[in-house]
Amino acid sequence: MLFLFFFQALASPVLERMLEHARRSCSSNSRRQIKVLGVPCDAVLSFVRLLYSSKWRSSDKDEVEEMEKHGMHLLALSHTYRVQWLKLVCETCLIVSTENVIDTLKLAKWCDARRLYIKCMVVLTQDLAGVQCTESWRFIQAHDPQLELEILQFIQEKDLRMKRMRRRKEEQGVYMQLVEVLECLDHICTEGCTNVGPLDVDLASKSRGPCGYFSTCEGLQQLILHLPLCAKKLAPGKCTHCKRMWQIFRLHSSLCARTEFCKVPLCKQFRMRKLEEGKGDDEMWRLLVKKVAFARFMSCLEKTKRTEEVWRKAVKCGESSCRSVNSSQRRK
Ligand SMILES: [Zn+2]
Ligand SMILES: [Zn+2]
Ligand SMILES: [Zn+2]
Repeated sequence: MLFLFFFQALASPVLERMLEHARRSCSSNSRRQIKVLGVPCDAVLSFVRLLYSSKWRSSDKDEVEEMEKHGMHLLALSHTYRVQWLKLVCETCLIVSTENVIDTLKLAKWCDARRLYIKCMVVLTQDLAGVQCTESWRFIQAHDPQLELEILQFIQEKDLRMKRMRRRKEEQGVYMQLVEVLECLDHICTEGCTNVGPLDVDLASKSRGPCGYFSTCEGLQQLILHLPLCAKKLAPGKCTHCKRMWQIFRLHSSLCARTEFCKVPLCKQFRMRKLEEGKGDDEMWRLLVKKVAFARFMSCLEKTKRTEEVWRKAVKCGESSCRSVNSSQRRK
């Protein structure tokens, strides 16, 4: 198809270059022509109109209809003539269904449209059985086995990715629990909680209710109280409670930044022993420390974000109450 049109202001660098080239090669009075081939006339008209308006309105019924009718062609044109904003609109607005998913996927690959590619893969993952009944699927099976393989691999890898993500989430949950345990240990050993605390803090003189993390804190307190009373604590590996408590103390020591004035038992001793023995922790322990340190950092970040939000809300409330006080004073 041959289509002719003129441009004054162009949103496409490709068309701009083509027009410049036509201007140089034609005499000043002759009409400059750019041929747009391979798409229906209506789609080109729609493309030119969108180029001139430089925007697409989702509230406009005609524009929505135009997108439904020529979306695929508009995507191809916006890719060819490098109109990024229109390409993005097409990728977002194109409706992918079981029937058109293969053709849309091919176009997404050709146009290097990553968002649309993922959209197609989601449809394929959700309804592969349905897609396999279509004519397009039979066509790629016969003529494009590479694409068929790519789709099947993506679906398989998606399952693996989901499993990996689930496992990582579970692991992260365990590290977050350890962070909470370490925070509770710190708070028990510095300020005390309910009936357990450091010797220099008079717990009886203060009314100490349970802390915010009491479900974790209570378990830790029981372990702390168990340790001095346990007859098997020195027999290596005999008491699981003692072993767990030692590991918590060791983990605290590995992550503690207070070198001299830490009130947590054995913090300094673990550090000194490591220095005296002159050998570092084993690989597994180093990895655990690294992961807990990261989880602690993330938890701090989360808390800071929450505090900032509370502050922002408080400031907003303050401003609105100030406004209401001022307006009531003005009324007086
Ligand atoms: Zn507590
Ligand atoms: Zn024990
Ligand atoms: Zn410490």
